[in-house]
Amino acid sequence: MKLLEDRIRRDGVVLGADVLKVDNFLNHQVDPDLMQAMGAEFYRQFQDAKITKILTVESSGIAPALATAMEFHVPMVFARKHKSLTLKDDMFTADVYSFTKQTSNTISIAHKFLNADDRVLIIDDFLANGQAVKGLTEIIAAAGATLVGAGIVIEKTFQKGRQMLDEQGVRVVSLARISAFEDGQVVFADEQDA
Ligand code: 5GP
Repeated sequence: MKLLEDRIRRDGVVLGADVLKVDNFLNHQVDPDLMQAMGAEFYRQFQDAKITKILTVESSGIAPALATAMEFHVPMVFARKHKSLTLKDDMFTADVYSFTKQTSNTISIAHKFLNADDRVLIIDDFLANGQAVKGLTEIIAAAGATLVGAGIVIEKTFQKGRQMLDEQGVRVVSLARISAFEDGQVVFADEQDA
């Protein structure tokens, strides 16, 4: 998606070898027009899939997930993150290792917000090693719901997540695909192919 790639070029900040900071438009300050455009693009890609629910993980997934849910006119549910969880009788839970924070969290969704009739689209801000999406797929499976696919704002193709999801047969749509960071600059996968 050109609009997003241009914005990443303009406002993204490369941190070290493998992290992109996008707090100017996605992870801290949020650009509503960009969110709306991304929601429309996810809708275009998945509109025939009879989606009934959008799932994400707090907090960075919420903005693009809500924009997408507004296009589909279905509820958006965000998994909550906890350091540890004692009371979980009425929750689906999964353990997720955070790539950026290098800690493990339990994520949870209340039983009452996900059921076997749901056809679910996962939306997240980044796909790195795929742990966040994997945790959500475990929760979807536990609920007996159907995973339709994953919509990712920024995929880093040089990390393991995409391959893992491809191997599991998950349909992944990424709006920007980054193949490398070189000298503090972003290289997009389509530029490398060209
Ligand atoms: P994964 O679970 O795929 O390894 O990592 C995905 C999660 O880690 C995302 O939800 C995002 O919050 C965070 N993340 C991964 N890579 C980056 C990055 O380059 N920049 C930022 N800001 N967050 C990232």
